[in-house]
Amino acid sequence: MNCPKCGMEAMISASHNTVTGDASPETPTKLFRVLTFQCRNPQCEKFGKEVGQQRLEQKIEQ
Ligand SMILES: [Zn+2]
Repeated sequence: MNCPKCGMEAMISASHNTVTGDASPETPTKLFRVLTFQCRNPQCEKFGKEVGQQRLEQKIEQ
């Protein structure tokens, strides 16, 4: 993921797991790893700030 402001490749500042579909037994449970990106360009006004998130679906071992 690139910073939308300066275009430099952003770095991952945080990550956590989240689960969807828990509430209803009819929806399949999905596990996602959510990566938070921040700009690492000191010249950019978004430097050190969150510029986006990416969700990666994880396989759930049965
Ligand atoms: Zn930037």
